[in-house]
Amino acid sequence: MTSNKLLLLPGDGIGTEVMAEVERVIDWFNDRGIASFETESGLVGGCAYDAHGEAISDSDMALADAADAVIFGAVGGPKWDDVEYDKRPEAGLLRLRKDLDLYANLRPAICYPALADASALKRELVEGLDILILRELTGGVYFGEPKTITDLGNGQKRAIDTQIYDTYEIDRAARIAFELARTRSGKVHSSEKRNVMKTGVLWNEVVTQVHAQDYSDIELHHILADNCGMQLVRNPKQFDVILTDNLFGDILSDVAAMLTGSLGMLPSASLGAEDEKTGKRKALYEPVHGSAPDIAGKGYANPIAMIGSFGMALRYSMDMGEWATKIDDAIAAVLAQGLRTRDLAVDGDTVISTAEMGAAIVRELDALTS
Ligand code: NAD
Repeated sequence: MTSNKLLLLPGDGIGTEVMAEVERVIDWFNDRGIASFETESGLVGGCAYDAHGEAISDSDMALADAADAVIFGAVGGPKWDDVEYDKRPEAGLLRLRKDLDLYANLRPAICYPALADASALKRELVEGLDILILRELTGGVYFGEPKTITDLGNGQKRAIDTQIYDTYEIDRAARIAFELARTRSGKVHSSEKRNVMKTGVLWNEVVTQVHAQDYSDIELHHILADNCGMQLVRNPKQFDVILTDNLFGDILSDVAAMLTGSLGMLPSASLGAEDEKTGKRKALYEPVHGSAPDIAGKGYANPIAMIGSFGMALRYSMDMGEWATKIDDAIAAVLAQGLRTRDLAVDGDTVISTAEMGAAIVRELDALTS
């Protein structure tokens, strides 16, 4: 059995609480002899700043570089609000994404039948929803230079952000979207603003080219990002894979998040280029939510997004897709029993703690495999 090296970076706030539940799942796989995971732990975010004066140390970056997958909790909190900009907790996550060149961010939005009533939309619009947003993660306006605020000296200031995309950045993101679509229902919506942005014109051109060259078996639609936002709320089940840039992906994936009921339900994966020798990609898996300081330390956090992120690691880094599906099935079964963390609970549900939810999911994994 090959051994998989995992670097666990729990981070701050509820990050440590939800990571403990992933460790429970990892132990289950190791104890049953289904897989062999070697884990190391490191610091990221505010706790790393407290320990080393920076949001992630070079030695933890080296561990991340050597790992088959990085499993990341969440960072941040009011304690670090006044830390210098380049040492703030989020800088640790941005460094991981940038240095490991994790250019493709995958955010599934799945609506479990038992949670359809927790969505902001009507049950019939979201029940059975299963979409995947592929957001380009290392380019665009979050990184483009110049990025400045200049004092104009007349009582006015000028802020500049720069949106830049090169052909190769769009090309490689598009390829991942098309590849993923081939494993799903074979449909991609590429979303940009070509009507008002030059980067949108190039995005559209490159995606069209990649599609014609290598993926003409996939159904490709181009959709303006504002319309995409509207359609996500009007008729989300029309989508399968949505391919989009860093800025629009940030916004559209949060819209999709609300379709599924709670921030505590959303996993994500960030993937880099394939290594030419091993065929493996650098990869980081994290829940979409943050460190939730309002509930940290109380056992209220929902660990499903974190456990689902580990499931994505099985699917995309370990070639264990069937086990990722079993994790999803175990989550669906626990929810179908009416067990809920506080964020999901409505009248009549049994409210359980973070640890109880982790234990219930492991129990269901046992039941599904015995
Ligand atoms: P948040 O995602 O931490 O919390 C938003 C709301 O959702 C809160 O009410 C919280 O209690 C709830 N929530 C989030 N995750 C939950 C879970 N698993 N179970 C139950 N409820 C959950 O966002 P925020 O409050 O805007 O930010 C808090 C801190 O997290 C800030 O410092 C922010 O910068 C940071 N943050 C970090 C990341 C990250 O690490 N990737 C992402 C977003 C925000």
